[in-house]
Amino acid sequence: MKVRVRFAPSPTGPLHIGGVRTALYNYLFARQNGGQMILRIEDTDQTRFVPGAEQYIIEALDWLGIKFDEGVHIGGPYGPYRQSDRKAMYRQYAEQLVNDGWAYYAFDTPEALDAKRKEYEAQKRTFQYDCNTRHEMDNSLTMTAEELSSRLASGAPYVLRFKFPENTDITVHDLIRGDVTMNSRLLDDKVLYKSDGMPTYHLANIVDDHTMEITHVIRGEEWLPSAPLHVMLYRAFGWEDTMPRFAHLPLLLKPEGNGKLSKRDGDRLGFPVFPLDWHDPKTGELSSGYREKGYLPQAVVNMLALLGWNPGTDQEIMSMDELIKLFNIEHISKSGAKFNVEKAKWFNHEYFQKLSDEAVADMMEPQLREHGITADRDYVVKVCGMMKERITFPSELWDTCCYFFQAPTEYDPAAIKKRWKSGMTVHMAKVIEILNTVDFDYDTIHKALLDDYIVGNGLNMGQVMNSLRLAVVGRTVGPDMLTLVMMLGKDETIRRVQRAIDTIGEVEN
Ligand code: GLU
Repeated sequence: MKVRVRFAPSPTGPLHIGGVRTALYNYLFARQNGGQMILRIEDTDQTRFVPGAEQYIIEALDWLGIKFDEGVHIGGPYGPYRQSDRKAMYRQYAEQLVNDGWAYYAFDTPEALDAKRKEYEAQKRTFQYDCNTRHEMDNSLTMTAEELSSRLASGAPYVLRFKFPENTDITVHDLIRGDVTMNSRLLDDKVLYKSDGMPTYHLANIVDDHTMEITHVIRGEEWLPSAPLHVMLYRAFGWEDTMPRFAHLPLLLKPEGNGKLSKRDGDRLGFPVFPLDWHDPKTGELSSGYREKGYLPQAVVNMLALLGWNPGTDQEIMSMDELIKLFNIEHISKSGAKFNVEKAKWFNHEYFQKLSDEAVADMMEPQLREHGITADRDYVVKVCGMMKERITFPSELWDTCCYFFQAPTEYDPAAIKKRWKSGMTVHMAKVIEILNTVDFDYDTIHKALLDDYIVGNGLNMGQVMNSLRLAVVGRTVGPDMLTLVMMLGKDETIRRVQRAIDTIGEVEN
């Protein structure tokens, strides 16, 4: 059996990060089994259609390196891959179900359904259109063949509903949860087809999975309640022998652990829940994306892979190729996976370290230009190589490295108070003198300044070196001080130290 899986989003807005994880698991499973991965757009609900959403989905998955073998954007032998483009073919399947007694016409108007609901509420009951109530409703089961013909001839709007058999246990074999059984008494006669010629999700999904020869349906847990209907549809069509196997993925939970991760959680806690920035075409509202926040696609993939799955070992860093090798459905957890923003940042930091110094320099260049700085490429590459371990997001590059490119204009007042003790101007003048007299190399300066001057005179090493840092950097952070001095060069270092002496001057503490 050749594995064929599909990712089947509805273009109703930006793709939630949970949807991205579904796509990723499908992709890993397909690749591992030498199978095919299909992108199908499920746009039967025209009322929820959002322009731009399909393009967004394609761009997001492409950014993450989740590739397709067939799909709406690349075509393929089972196309078309957009359900609205397949509209014409669903009718015959709907009719087949009616003819075989698996579906029926229902003419109930929205007003009539509403009245029914109210009637039930008044009796403290909940109305559901199902095997217990269908005989009270306006449908082909409660009218004669003549009545049905004349209703249809009159052009009365109708829907086709699935006719669940009475009191029947329906079992869904789920690869993650095992057997899940539900009795048909509890299930409502879902609408399959509408008189406007559009199938609903349920009918289109089953017809497409069958005609596209899908072997495994890997999707979010929110679809588990629909799975008994889907199993019954396969039975009704006589397709049970080729029915795909199901795997329903656990929910992505809020960081606190209760409830599904929502866009609001992202806004509240300051992390994206979408892969890319999304501008809502109606409201203009911006939802931020991982890409624009500076996350690397490899980091997002790795983090998502581990939200709900583990390789069975403690290994955390896994490339896409490794994930493809290690992935298995058995290690997907049944319970929801808590989103952890600190972990997301940790992954990004790890993957940032894997970037070449050149690649980091490429990210740095626009920031330099923005600050009006032209710098030698080799120097930029060197700075990036030295400093990348301190970086989680590319946007931090300028702030973390700016003193390599421009002298400080201010000095951290707290650091002055703590380090720049009385007599410091004398020590700094000595630094200038040493730099001016000895050979400008690391070991020579180390000996002259640290060993002979500071240690030799019994001075406080931390105080002198941190004051020097304050003079050169403007604050008390940065790489090894003498390495920095070597990078900046003799003249620039001396200029900075002199300027600090002139600006901060002698203090009394
Ligand atoms: N169109 C459904 C969605 O938006 C797909 C569900 C499925 O994979 O069957 O999630």
